[in-house]
Amino acid sequence: MAILPILEAPHPVLSAKARRVEMDEFGSELSTLVTDMAETMYAAPGVGLAAPQVGDGRRILVANLEGDAESDKEDELIVMINPVILERSTEMIKWDESCLSVPEYDLDVDRHLRIHVEWQDVSGEHKEGWFEEFPSVVLQHEMDHLDGVTLLDRSSRLKRSRYISKRRKRLRERG
Ligand SMILES: [Zn+2]
Repeated sequence: MAILPILEAPHPVLSAKARRVEMDEFGSELSTLVTDMAETMYAAPGVGLAAPQVGDGRRILVANLEGDAESDKEDELIVMINPVILERSTEMIKWDESCLSVPEYDLDVDRHLRIHVEWQDVSGEHKEGWFEEFPSVVLQHEMDHLDGVTLLDRSSRLKRSRYISKRRKRLRERG
């Protein structure tokens, strides 16, 4: 197990569309990556992490859908390989979101209240299920990462450029 470095936006891997995990990629390398991603998420602490955030451009995410960042009980962990949203409710929910790849930033985002998702687990088995409210929001946020979209892309141009110059200044001060 290892804690992986988390990339911060703006970064080319975070802006790229991730590719599907192929059938022959399921195995020990993939399960090690997923275990490391979960450990990295819990250590941060965070409630979700997508593979591009640790520099891997594949459609993989982990999430703790109980929404308690302090908890690391294994049964709350969900791992999704190649997740696809099959259906979205027209009903929306506004959520104040933050992101491990956009430190010291939060943004109100409109999300679908309910989504129906199909995915593969770490052994390649196909799963599907409906998610509502917090779990739905977390999964939409993580699936945004798989399409190269971060909170910065969802914010106004002004708010984005202010954030980027503030971060650059802070990183320069840190040296
Ligand atoms: Zn994020």
